[in-house]
Amino acid sequence: MTDAVTDQLIEANKRYAGGFTDPGMDARPVRKVAVVACMDARLDLHAALGLSLGDCHTIRNAGGVVTDDVIRSLTISQRQLGTRTVVLIHHTGCGLLGLTENFRHELELEVGQKPNWAVESFTDLDQDVRQSMARVRTSPFLPHTEDVRGFVFDVTTGLLREIHLADSPAP
Ligand SMILES: [Zn+2]
Repeated sequence: MTDAVTDQLIEANKRYAGGFTDPGMDARPVRKVAVVACMDARLDLHAALGLSLGDCHTIRNAGGVVTDDVIRSLTISQRQLGTRTVVLIHHTGCGLLGLTENFRHELELEVGQKPNWAVESFTDLDQDVRQSMARVRTSPFLPHTEDVRGFVFDVTTGLLREIHLADSPAP
């Protein structure tokens, strides 16, 4: 038994593959849905949404924000692999809450160059979900933008709360 986490993962994979049978699926998600979510370790998307192997695309990053690279993945998901629905999931207690673009400035001071990406931090979860929905719905690259819904996942209860585009931000 080794201590390095990657070695533990490799051992777990051997056990996984030992019981694995080829599901015989192609790359097109069975339920034609792409889920964009935060990378947070407490968010088990398959368990939380009742998803099975082969059901969906999962696109994850810090915050679950809709960046150009998420649009890239969604474009391929819809145009090449047949998905029609987009589900966006942010969550309570996110590491991006309260972070500011000052993070970029501090990075620049430390390492001598400014990152070419935005931190995409936010202080209002609901508003950031709305912005993410708007970015998906207005993307010229996506042919399917009618079925786009956004949620906040509560890491203490496991429940999703839907965010509606029309709701006005908290005063
Ligand atoms: Zn998060």
